[in-house]
Formats: sequence, structure tokens, C-alpha cells
Amino acid sequence: MKVYVTRRCGHDEKISVYGPYRGRDAAIERESNKLCYACWVKRRDCREQYEQAHDKLGFLIREYVRHYADDPNAETRIREQLASGEMTEASLADWILTYRFEK
Ligand SMILES: [Zn+2]
Repeated sequence: MKVYVTRRCGHDEKISVYGPYRGRDAAIERESNKLCYACWVKRRDCREQYEQAHDKLGFLIREYVRHYADDPNAETRIREQLASGEMTEASLADWILTYRFEK
């Protein structure tokens, strides 16, 4: 059976659901908690770029600023949060690699 599910990134994707009817709602629920293929690829590429970056913090800041492209103070804001300890390099990496490509 082919159905459309809305992924957690908000994109709709057609999936195949197999097995008995009673298991299908749970299978659709599981699928809806995943990223769509295009977002999964983007996140994987971002992770690879991060792992290969010589200046990892610089990479993270650029990605953050890109995410908040409409906010001219994004770079100042993230640098202040990093300086104050409100945000750490690890939590910034976690945020970017986990959430950046959703929505
Ligand atoms: Zn998506």
C-alpha cells in the first residue's frame, strides 16, 4: 500500500506500507517522525562538511548565520551566546546537525 506521509520536516513523501492493517498506523507514525529524503541528504552533507571542516566553529557560525539569513544581527547574537556560555560549540553543533534542515 502506498500512502503519503508528512515528515517531521513538513514535507510530504510517498511511502510503501506493508504488513497487516493493525500495524500500519504505527508504521506510518514511525515514518512521519523521520526526515524526507531530500532533507536527510542535506543533513548528511552538512554533517560531512562539518566533520571535514578545519575551522569547525567557523563552519557552525556560518551555518547558523545562513539559517537566520533575514536577521542582520545573527552573527553578533551567536558570538555573544558562545562567549557567555549560553551556547557551547557542542550544543551549537547539535542544533545545526539535528534541526537546521527541518522546516
Ligand atoms: Zn523534508
